Amino acid sequence: MNKFEILKKYFGYDSFRDSQETLIDSILAGKDTLGIMPTGAGKSLCYQIPALMMEGITLVISPLISLMKDQVGSLNQAGIHAAFLNSSLTTNQYYKALGFARQGRYPIIYVAPERLVTEEFLDFSANSHIAMVAVDEAHCISQWGQDFRPAYLKILEFIEKLPHRPVVSAFTATATKEVRDDIIDILQLREPTVVTTGFDRGNLYFGVMNVKDRYGAIRNYLETHRGDSGIIYCLTRKHVEDMCQRLIRDGFSVTRYHAGLSDEERRRNQDDFIYDRSPIIVATSAFGMGIDKSNVRFVLHCGMPKNIESYYQEAGRAGRDGEPAECVLYYGGQDVITNQLFIDHDQDNQELDPVTREIVRKRDQERLKKMTFYCFTNECLRDYILKYFGEYKSNYCGNCSNCMTQFQEVDVTEIARALMGCVDSSRQRYGTTVIIDTVHGADTAKIRNYRMNSNPFYGALAKTPTYRIRQVLNYLQLEEYLYVTSDEYAVVKLTEKSGEAVKDNRQFVMKMAKETERTPKETGSKGRNKTQPGHENFTEQETALFGRLRALRTEIAKEEKVPPYIVFSDKTLTHMCILKPKTRREMLTVSGVGEFKFEKYGERFLACIGTALGNT
Ligand code: ADP
Ligand code: MG
Repeated sequence: MNKFEILKKYFGYDSFRDSQETLIDSILAGKDTLGIMPTGAGKSLCYQIPALMMEGITLVISPLISLMKDQVGSLNQAGIHAAFLNSSLTTNQYYKALGFARQGRYPIIYVAPERLVTEEFLDFSANSHIAMVAVDEAHCISQWGQDFRPAYLKILEFIEKLPHRPVVSAFTATATKEVRDDIIDILQLREPTVVTTGFDRGNLYFGVMNVKDRYGAIRNYLETHRGDSGIIYCLTRKHVEDMCQRLIRDGFSVTRYHAGLSDEERRRNQDDFIYDRSPIIVATSAFGMGIDKSNVRFVLHCGMPKNIESYYQEAGRAGRDGEPAECVLYYGGQDVITNQLFIDHDQDNQELDPVTREIVRKRDQERLKKMTFYCFTNECLRDYILKYFGEYKSNYCGNCSNCMTQFQEVDVTEIARALMGCVDSSRQRYGTTVIIDTVHGADTAKIRNYRMNSNPFYGALAKTPTYRIRQVLNYLQLEEYLYVTSDEYAVVKLTEKSGEAVKDNRQFVMKMAKETERTPKETGSKGRNKTQPGHENFTEQETALFGRLRALRTEIAKEEKVPPYIVFSDKTLTHMCILKPKTRREMLTVSGVGEFKFEKYGERFLACIGTALGNT
């Protein structure tokens, strides 16, 4: 079979995505290969398909048991023999699997890196034909990343011990140069084909909401997205507990995850989420590594994470199946302070020497600042994130809360000048609150102590509401007319740019949301069918059909003891609703329905569609 036939027969897809083909062809040509593609881009197929075409066995190195289980489950569901070898197996199971492997039953074997250089495994490898070593989540090899796994360093040692050097391929979603160079160096890839695709995830909607009642806003969101699976990230364990309790009281099926729970409970709750028994999970940032659940339809953040890297990683767990999904950040003023505390008391940094610790602290502070600006920018949110990672796009995506809000241009020159003037005349010694209180003319003890009540700009903006003054101050920081120092005093300073602006009497025009447009923004993205993100074009009948197909999928998943999304993805169910297949032939044209899966479940889904449409 050629690669297209395999794609159709086992995976049920008609065509490759950008760059999948290049990577597959490179591997098949016997070249080392490195693929850097965002989450959900479809990296697994890039090594799985060549593995089925090459003579010999492909070993896939993966950092986590849950990831291996997920992938092997998917492959078996698709009718491909695959196994994993890791510490979740008993000794008996391990030797049994290894025995089958020796007989050549598995073209694909997932192995934990720790296993590679054990005696039995080396013996097995020396007596088998290992055609390829595929390193998944390859960034785990780099100390630069957040997920460094020392055991990954054993991969090279293992490869060097093999009688024949196999093709080595590596895959990751981490795009920084340091990490990429580390992967190539440490794995000693030989003149690798390197394919990097953009970081953009077009199917994700990004939103920021600045609401007073965050709990209420999140509850509203969940009410309008009933039946969908999603993650709610909170900043602290306590927030997780509170949020979870309130949601349960309000009748939602949720579970929780944070580092304060026992291993046993964490595992159970994670499984409940993956198997859709509790479609919603409330968690701290401890949750998510190794979660490949493809039907996560939303990721809500109740509180701002510490940097854009974390945010994009967490939010990126939505919509792996490529179907529309939503990432909404509910921002609150307290978030900056909470994160500041995390930075100041970072346990991980305690072992560092004072100089390094200070450098790390400053870096974290800078990252936090960029994250904060994300919550305030009026520009395209997607663009803001991609720019942060060094990618430049157009300034309009049409699928984020800023692009979907109507803005008006407001002249804020007077406010900007008063703020910069106040900073200048008080000799750049004070923080944001003092500056704002001064121009607003507040009569507080602090202002009197600092004698800011005799500053020339005292009360200059007495009529302007403070939230507006703060908005402009944020804007001036975002545009680098002002900056706030990263030391503990957080003093507002002028920049070169502000000097120039004053000199040539520059006008300041700021984009602000039209006040009347606030309401839709606060209830979520507009113009969508609230129960199914991305299903805005569904008729009522199709929406009902989707519900029935989803129920059937749950039923089958229970019988097969696999997570529902491994039976069929949300995307596949959506296609079924649109195509409404009546025959085997028609069903096989649905994206994600391969022959093997059709044999197993096809008729049941056809019957379900028939009944729902009343033409049995
Ligand atoms: P990654 O490892 O890059 O995050 P996965 O390999 O888990 O992504 O794939 C994400 C999803 O995309 C899976 O549901 C997979 O079946 C699907 N997918 C992969 N390749 C294709 C394709 N060519 N056409 C349609 N869907 C695909
Ligand atoms: Mg993957």
